[in-house]
Amino acid sequence: MPSIAPDATLPLTCTREGACCFGPQVWINPWELAVLARGLDLEPRLARQRLTDLGGLHLRHDGALDAAGRTACALYRPGHGCSAHAQRPLACRLFPLGRARLDGRPVYHHDPAGLPCLARCPNVTSLPHLTVAAYLRGQQVDLHEAAHDAYAARCYGLVLAAATIARLEPGQRAGLLAAFAQLSALSPADRAALPGPGWTDVLTLLPAEAPLGQPAEAARQHAEAIAAAIATRHRDDLQAAGRAYLGLALRLAPAVGADAGAMRSLLEENSR
Ligand code: SF4
Ligand code: SF4
Repeated sequence: MPSIAPDATLPLTCTREGACCFGPQVWINPWELAVLARGLDLEPRLARQRLTDLGGLHLRHDGALDAAGRTACALYRPGHGCSAHAQRPLACRLFPLGRARLDGRPVYHHDPAGLPCLARCPNVTSLPHLTVAAYLRGQQVDLHEAAHDAYAARCYGLVLAAATIARLEPGQRAGLLAAFAQLSALSPADRAALPGPGWTDVLTLLPAEAPLGQPAEAARQHAEAIAAAIATRHRDDLQAAGRAYLGLALRLAPAVGADAGAMRSLLEENSR
């Protein structure tokens, strides 16, 4: 997708009509789930149950229908809009922009077919036009971007943990490379069940003491808790431990924009 420079002007200001709350996929990372739960004053497990599908890191779209037959996000309230606007995930803050990291820096991009807001919320053109940087400032993306990047790094860290097992125990390498190939070919719905029964809380719920105001630290504590759970459950089975790391990484990947090809390269290169 074409990138867009921070000083480029967007031909819109979001009208907050909520048109983009119908249809698009919204993946959330565990920090975002915790932030939504706190904002809605829900116990995190209950928030996950009410708001998500695909294993707890994807917002359910089972709300009202729009004229085009698209279903609204579970958080959308007709006549009101987002019921968790202050806690909305990064994907919603960025829309209609996408974001990736290139050489350690964020890069923003947009749909080459055009900005969907122009078709879905035509009033956007009558509001002040903003630069990309000003648009992002207005959307208060900083903490959410920090959480996204921290969880992306932790996702690749899970792959590196599996690679370390394969490097220290060379007999495990072929099995773990084969496991990655098999698991990465699964559909998103099947990946949502990885690495098997009993892992949803471990992957989706932050430790109770994790500081939500410091997303990188929260993600660090969460990664430690994941590693501790794997060590406890698979103390005597390195292959199972490696598969658990890979399964959890692949399950987390779509929520943090982690690329399966990059994950495979990381595994191959660091397991020799
Ligand atoms: S479609 Fe665009 S203008 Fe309309 S609510 Fe979504 S981000 Fe705002
Ligand atoms: S979280 Fe809020 S802003 Fe995002 S899609 Fe759902 S209702 Fe819309």
